[in-house]
This record gives sequence, structure tokens and C-alpha cells, in this order.
Amino acid sequence: MKLYSTNNKDLRVSFQEAVFNSLPADKGLYMPSVIPSLDTAFIRNIQQYSLQEIAFEVAHTLIGDDIPNGDLKSIIADAINFDAPVRFLDAETAVLELFHGPSYAFKDFGARFMSRVMGYFSKQGDQLLDVLVATSGDTGGAVASGFLGVDGTRVTILYPKGKVSKVQEEQLTTNGKNIRALEVDGTFDDCQALVKTAFNDADLNKVLRLTSANSINIARLIPQTFYYFWAYAQLRSQGISEVIFTVPSGNFGNIGAGLLAYKMGLPVKHFVAGTNVNDTVPRFLQSGSYDPKPSVQTLANAMDVGNPSNWVRIQDMFDNKVEELRSMISSYTYDDEQTVNAMKELYDKYQYIACPHTAIAYLASNQYRQDYPGTYASVFLSTAHPCKFPDAISEEIFSKIELPTGAEELAGKQKLVTEMSVDYDAFKSYLLANT
Ligand SMILES: *Cc1c(COP(=O)(O)O)cnc(C)c1O
Repeated sequence: MKLYSTNNKDLRVSFQEAVFNSLPADKGLYMPSVIPSLDTAFIRNIQQYSLQEIAFEVAHTLIGDDIPNGDLKSIIADAINFDAPVRFLDAETAVLELFHGPSYAFKDFGARFMSRVMGYFSKQGDQLLDVLVATSGDTGGAVASGFLGVDGTRVTILYPKGKVSKVQEEQLTTNGKNIRALEVDGTFDDCQALVKTAFNDADLNKVLRLTSANSINIARLIPQTFYYFWAYAQLRSQGISEVIFTVPSGNFGNIGAGLLAYKMGLPVKHFVAGTNVNDTVPRFLQSGSYDPKPSVQTLANAMDVGNPSNWVRIQDMFDNKVEELRSMISSYTYDDEQTVNAMKELYDKYQYIACPHTAIAYLASNQYRQDYPGTYASVFLSTAHPCKFPDAISEEIFSKIELPTGAEELAGKQKLVTEMSVDYDAFKSYLLANT
């Protein structure tokens, strides 16, 4: 596999280089120089395969010989060790549940695969790989559990004090081993600024081998294609072949992976992006001009993104042609009140408890069906378990949530956390003193 930068299509780097760099120096994003097509016979018979078999076929088609087949199979067996079931709410509406991994959010797919790929490419005797990550809640938990115990790596997570939920905080702070949690007396933006400054700090880079685990890493995008193929396989085994996916979107990595799956030959009719009031992409699809705004806080806070970092990848896949983008992607925006009502409707109508992000996808999938009626399955993606968002869900509904396995033990575990101010020098001293 060779990758170019969206800012320089003549560039060619290896998969390994793209994984460790995360971003090209020209600040574009890495994309495969050629998007390969999956074997058509494989897609025709896709309902015969398991999630792991599908994941291997897709990853191998993309990555080629950069990871030998046996090793790639072990990476997948270890990383993708939980299901992503499609559940039907009624005859034509289904939800693809992506929260059955250890951190109860879809980010487990990306983080677990990336951590194992980084571990695989880190040779014995290499300097320890220091992963720095800022989180508003979900990313940190997935990265922590993804990297926990992966040889040759150490993770430092920065999260804003008092601004993550109880389950999220437990997932960040109870790991130990090669995972360190820093509770920053500031906002998520402060955490992100600390991490960014560290990456550009020459003193630190002399002593530490720093890398990032953010959602623009190509090794997080690839495994997110797996569950689109797997969802399609599940539909095919029910005799359904016409599908529209609706994706709750913030940084647009998840839907970007769906579009990559489509470009590899997955027969999807259309994609719908549901957003909260951070509506840069819906406005772009309407007006044709990209006009990012500062992010606004909402109940679906994992999607509070004013300038979605993966959007350039999506534009790149469609040669920056707005008309082509519009023919494949629609987008709808919802405010907090609509989100709360949707969670209630899902519960009243189907006894289904959804997180606020998932509820936004539900609204967008219904809206699209209203605007474009037809015979197809509407599959909306559920990106997190509702137990992670107690402040966004009414008490009545929240009390009915069945906790996923492991959630209760989590509460009993010891918290290991270091308090940190927003002062960069303090953060730098911490990193240098604890090598
Ligand atoms: C991260 C996240 C999203 C947004 O996904 P993107 O890939 O950034 O669009 C949506 N829902 C939940 C629960 C998340 O954690």
C-alpha cells in the first residue's frame, strides 16, 4: 500500500510511515494512492463470511503485502473481538450497534486496530513509542483499552476535569500499566493545545518518540470500513440488498470510512450524515462553500466539532466535486431539544435506549426516508452505549439502561490519575520527569 497526501498527490509513503506520522508534513491527510476494489465474487457471497473474515479480506485488499497474511489475521483476531450486530426496529429501519467493544463506543474499532498495527511495526529494541492523546471523553477510553499492555508503547491521556462522564472517567483512569491519565484543570481545547505544543517541541522530540492516536490516522480509518461490509452481510442474509447508512458525524471519520467502503465496491445506495448544531458540512452541501465555525457545546458532545478534520478525505474521494458529493451524501442538523425528543421517541416506540449521537442518526434517517421514499433498508449507526451519557438522557430512561458487561466492576477499580494545570511548562516537566 502506498499513500499520498491530500495536499500533494505526487507524494508516496509506506503504510508504516503513514501510521507513525499520522499527518503528512504538508498538513494534508494520508489517502491510499489507489483505492482497490474488493473481489466482486466476495461481495456477491458476503453473507457467508464472519466479521473477522470480512475484516481480513478488506484490510488485505487495502494494505497488500505491508503486513503478511498470517500476521494481519492475528492482528484482526485480537483487535476485532466483539460483534457489531444489526437490529431491526421495524421492517425497514435498523440500527447497527457499534458499542459492544471494551469502551462501549465505535472508536474501539479504530483504536484497537491502530494500537496493534503500531505494536506490530515497533521492532524489538526500538525506542518506546509515546502516544499522546487529548479527549473529550470517548477517544481516550478507546485508546486506553486499545493500547493497554501493547508492548513498546505508552499512552498519556489528557482529559478536562469535571467534563467527562463517570463511566468515561473510569475507563480513562483505572487501567494502570502503560496507560497514564492526566486530569487537566481546563477544557478539551486546553488539553488539545497542550498535546499540539508537545508535538512541536524540539526538546521533547529529542528525548521522546512521540506519536498521536487521533482520528485522522489512516490505521483508525481502515478498521472502520469493516463494519459497513459486515452490516451489509447481515442484511444480505435477510434477503436485503438495498441499503442507506445514516451516520452521526462530528469529525466525519466514521462516515469517511463508509465512503471508502463504497469506493472499494460495497453496494450502498446513499449515505446520510446527521449532525448536531455544528453544521459546517450540511451548510457546505447546501451552499457549496466550506465555512467552518468555532464549535458549540451540545448534548451529543462527541460531535461538537466546528471544522471536521476528516472532511478533506471525503472531498478527495470525490475529486472535490460538490455535485458528486451531493449525489452520494445528504446531511441534516438537529438541536438539543430535537435530540432529547428523539431519545424519548425511540424509547416510547421501540423501547430502545439510544445515546444522543445515535438519536441524531435516527432523526436523520427518518428525515431522508421522508424526503426520498423507496424500498431500501435504512440503517443508522449507534456509536456509543447510552450508559456513557447520563447528563444527556432523562432520568426516567437512564434508570432503565442495562449496564454492559464490565461496567459494574469498572466502578470498583482504583483510580490512578495525575492532576495537571493548563500550563505547558508543567506538562512538559511531567513528560520529561517520567520517562
Ligand atoms: C467520536 C464519536 C462520534 C463522531 O464520529 P466521527 O468519526 O468523529 O464523525 C459520534 N458518536 C460518538 C458516540 C462518538 O464517540
